[in-house]
Amino acid sequence: MNIALIAHDSKKELMVQFCIAYCGVLSCHNLCATGTTGKLVSEATGLRIQRYLSGSQGGDQQIAARISCNEIDVLIFFRDPLNAKSHEPNDMTLLRLSDVHNIPVATNIATAEALIHALERGDLDWREIVKG
Ligand code: PGA
Repeated sequence: MNIALIAHDSKKELMVQFCIAYCGVLSCHNLCATGTTGKLVSEATGLRIQRYLSGSQGGDQQIAARISCNEIDVLIFFRDPLNAKSHEPNDMTLLRLSDVHNIPVATNIATAEALIHALERGDLDWREIVKG
């Protein structure tokens, strides 16, 4: 399963803690992330992560392109709901494309935990079967 990780600055520590807590599950999957998120998570966990550009440099759009090609199965995107970012329109594109392609998305820790447990149980394996 291909899992994409993105966290806005105020949520990066939360992403790191989440990935430490679920390192065992995450290590069974292919991970990719925007630049800084990927760097912090891989340093903290030792997980192998394909890193794209930083979000502000277009890394979120690189992940959006993979979503468009149906190459991402789960998106964990911890957004900062209180402080707007200059590249916020890109975030909306990312979420819109996830809806277009029916990608399970978590934008907060509660949903992310639900998705991780679903991954652990194999509840999302149908995605692999559909892709063939
Ligand atoms: P970053 O990008 O992981 O490179 O910081 C995420 C973002 O859009 O803030």
